[in-house]
Amino acid sequence: MAHGHFGGLLPACLKRQIDLSWYSLFHKKPLGECFVAKNEVVMEKTPLLPLPEGMLIDQIQITATGLMISVISTHPTSCCPLCSEPSSSIKSHYRRTLRDVPCGGRRVLLSLTVRKFYCRNAYCPRKVFAERFPAFVDPWARMTIRHGEQITSIGLATCGKGGTRLAARLGMQTTRQTILRRIMDLPDSSAGVILFLGIDDFSFRRGSRFGTILVNLESRRVVDLLPDREAETSATWMRQQLDLMAVSRDRGGAYASAAAQGAPQATQCADRFHLMKNLGEALDGLLAHHLAAECKRQTQATVDSQVPVWQSTRATHTSPTLLRLQHNRREERLAHYEQVIALRKLGLSQAAIARQVGIGASTVQSWLAAGAFPERKPREQGSRLDRYLLYLFQRWEDGNHNMACLFRELVEQGYKGSYESVRDNLVRLLPEGRKIPRDSLAKTSTLAPSRQASFLFLRRPEKLRTEEQETLAKLRQLHPEVNLAYNLVQQFAQMLRTRTGEHLDAWLDQVASSKLPELQSFAAGIEKDKDAVRAGLTWWINNGMVEGHVTKLKLIKRQGYGRAGFPLLRKRVLHAL
Ligand SMILES: [Zn+2]
Repeated sequence: MAHGHFGGLLPACLKRQIDLSWYSLFHKKPLGECFVAKNEVVMEKTPLLPLPEGMLIDQIQITATGLMISVISTHPTSCCPLCSEPSSSIKSHYRRTLRDVPCGGRRVLLSLTVRKFYCRNAYCPRKVFAERFPAFVDPWARMTIRHGEQITSIGLATCGKGGTRLAARLGMQTTRQTILRRIMDLPDSSAGVILFLGIDDFSFRRGSRFGTILVNLESRRVVDLLPDREAETSATWMRQQLDLMAVSRDRGGAYASAAAQGAPQATQCADRFHLMKNLGEALDGLLAHHLAAECKRQTQATVDSQVPVWQSTRATHTSPTLLRLQHNRREERLAHYEQVIALRKLGLSQAAIARQVGIGASTVQSWLAAGAFPERKPREQGSRLDRYLLYLFQRWEDGNHNMACLFRELVEQGYKGSYESVRDNLVRLLPEGRKIPRDSLAKTSTLAPSRQASFLFLRRPEKLRTEEQETLAKLRQLHPEVNLAYNLVQQFAQMLRTRTGEHLDAWLDQVASSKLPELQSFAAGIEKDKDAVRAGLTWWINNGMVEGHVTKLKLIKRQGYGRAGFPLLRKRVLHAL
């Protein structure tokens, strides 16, 4: 018997059990007797290591790897597993070593003393049997049932390898193979009665191979996974579900025909999310068309207003902006000149004047020599940049405001001038610094790209922020067609939100007379699948929950389901914690 230094670390309960072993040493009695004698101590209200009734801890050894706990059974009788007759005739004992749940982070091994009994039933072919411990350990098993269940839970929450590591942390010794086998051995629970089924696909490997997920929309549980998304596979599955009342599925496609074949009695519901998505796509097309037209119109207006400045060379003084610019630069130069003259009168040297005013010494010298303010001669020829100015302007207008990038583009086109020249000319020639082109672009960009615009169209107007409402108002003013589309889209969304599918036909009629081709093609799609769409707009069921389960499935898939492939994935999803 090995006793460590227990200190104050052990819980009182275990301490008492160990104290009892000291007690046995002290009284020179076998420990089993002490426990039997102090039965009430072992089966106290919160035993450290709960055991089935009649099983007692005989001895606790602290070993290098954990705890070795000897357990004995004290039931006076045991029932023959064959004839169920109780017997009290003990033939012999043997020991079984079982892994059990860890205790305070320590691994636990149970050394279980098992008794063999004679079966006294004369008609029973079994003469000798070993006592059984149902619900505690299975015959022949090497671990207790509760320990096995913990390993299964670890396996379901992690993956094979990670599970082994986690188990080791928690004081359980197991292998990847054991974890995988335990998951695969989980029984398939019956799907039960399914009235409302949600069906969708999921991808095994980034869109190359697909499976099918089936969800009971009432119990919110995944009821099965299928290895493909063929109509026939799903139909076969549905044929076994005789109670199916409704099937929620995406728009048309394989699952529609699967439901038609496998569950013809069930109402098919087109999923609302997919409906909205398709409507959004139709709207995208319509808005993109109108936004492009508007953008073109605005760009043209900007170009028209800018071209005179851009095309003017410095010799043609026609642009008021350029004139103002030239005037400002002359004023600045004149101020410098007057400063130079004043400082000269104070007796400063040319170098000192240059430093004071912040201009070159040679400029000071030439100005002093000139005797009067030297007006700039208009340049005879444009700069090297002039022939690229229009290109530069277009690129700027396209939203490319990176000077270095623009410079590289010009060089590629044969521009020989300097980067500074490009930069200075851009800054100078973009009137009012760089503000005007930005403003004119900003005007276009308040009209959101079509995707964002259709998002505004689909949402409840009362949920939009103030600036979104303003953008929406601008969009609706683009064209009467856009406004009409907005009204139709909102009607559809309202129908979907309030489950008033009975208005579908009236809505389709309106679209038919609207002359909006994008919405008409959306309506044509609905006509092909009208009953399911009407049901989708009326029934409470939809595929949102299924999408949620697909997300969870992706998470499980990412943890890796190894070589066992689909069967393991299926087990893990069906038994997901
Ligand atoms: Zn028997």
